[in-house]
Amino acid sequence: MTDFAYLDWPFFQPRHRDLAAALDAWAADNISREHSGDVDSICRGLVKTLGAGGWLRHAVAGQDVGGAGESIDTRAICLIRETLARHAGLADFSFAMQGLGSGAISLHGTPEQRRQYLPKVAQGEAISAFALSEPDAGSDVAAMTCAAHADGNEYVLDGEKTWISNGGIADFYVVFARTGEQPGARGISAFIVDADTPGFEVAERIEVIAPHPLARLRFNNCRIAASQRIGDAGKGFKVAMRTLDVFRTSVAAAALGFARRALDEALQRATTRRMFKGVLSDFQLTQAKLADMATAVDSAALLTYRAAWQRDQGQKVTREAAMAKLTATENAQRVIDAAVQMFGGLGVTSGQPVEDLYREIRALRIYEGATEVQQMIIARELLRSIDH
Ligand SMILES: Cc1cc2nc3c(=O)[nH]c(=O)nc-3n(C[C@H](O)[C@H](O)[C@H](O)COP(=O)(O)OP(=O)(O)OC[C@H]3O[C@@H](n4cnc5c(N)ncnc54)[C@H](O)[C@@H]3O)c2cc1C
Repeated sequence: MTDFAYLDWPFFQPRHRDLAAALDAWAADNISREHSGDVDSICRGLVKTLGAGGWLRHAVAGQDVGGAGESIDTRAICLIRETLARHAGLADFSFAMQGLGSGAISLHGTPEQRRQYLPKVAQGEAISAFALSEPDAGSDVAAMTCAAHADGNEYVLDGEKTWISNGGIADFYVVFARTGEQPGARGISAFIVDADTPGFEVAERIEVIAPHPLARLRFNNCRIAASQRIGDAGKGFKVAMRTLDVFRTSVAAAALGFARRALDEALQRATTRRMFKGVLSDFQLTQAKLADMATAVDSAALLTYRAAWQRDQGQKVTREAAMAKLTATENAQRVIDAAVQMFGGLGVTSGQPVEDLYREIRALRIYEGATEVQQMIIARELLRSIDH
């Protein structure tokens, strides 16, 4: 039911329109919304299916390592996330994590690291994860204490990471740890840790309202070769921020996909639910709600694809990506809540798409920079622009 007229917006090129249409048709045949079962095996299966379908090629950069292009096409990953989110949250999650988990290698990996990890990520043969957050360092990520000290040709990692998506099913983790060259953000480095490295363990599984593989990780005298470091020592914070810069706009796109699905569901329900000798959509109160929902979806889409387009032109998108993430996630929450309300009791019944969306959307307002962090970024950029 989604109106695909937005694909005619000037932000897109013909290849984007073709990609969105092809993925939508493919997803209808190959992806289903799973309501129960073992999320680990569902996600392992989804990574394989997305890999076999060729979609994960868009999550890595470099045709020599199986990527769809030389760099990551932000509009492509946004359209993919939006489309997958509209079909099934876990499919979007599996796609996104392959990109976020391997993004540091795409952007800053050595030729050997790229050859070793990226082809498997692109084919769905290896699952990746991005381990930045810690119990006492979430929004304030530079406060991290997980440490790595150099010992000959090795680094030794000690400490913890938490809220790590794909924790427990990933084949490798990109881990950010304090190497102490300078205080704060300038003393952090990035490393690749294979899941079978001695001293690495999944300390705890974390259950959340929209189940997906999530864990707390522990490093205890965990030795890795110095060649597993990504980028220069002490430059890991930049590696993390550049990776997030690529994927932050795609969180907005995922929220947009959830919101579009909720609007589709609401329209379907409102035009068929009989009451008071008519249907729900006969009433102006309902029509006002639908109008607000459609406007919230379009404003999120405009900000999302502006940021994606701008990034693909090589422009700085700090402010635009923050605006997109803030607006798309907050708007999606409101659109989905309105859809649940229109469904009445059915809306809170387990297994209903709108109930599923209601749980799915919540974390997007928190991770990869909570709404308040996006507000801080936008305000900082605004104030900087008028600095005298
Ligand atoms: C489902 C899920 C998946 C995740 N996956 C990953 C992952 O794969 N890898 C990874 O590294 N991390 C991951 N995270 C962690 C996520 O990035 C952090 O939860 C997020 O950065 C917030 O950190 P925190 O939870 O410690 O909250 P805190 O830092 O304690 O913040 C709590 C709240 O404080 C508010 N706040 C923050 N700063 C300000 C401010 N300056 N002014 C006013 N209010 C403020 C915000 O509302 C915020 O939500 C995931 C989290 C979730 C929920």
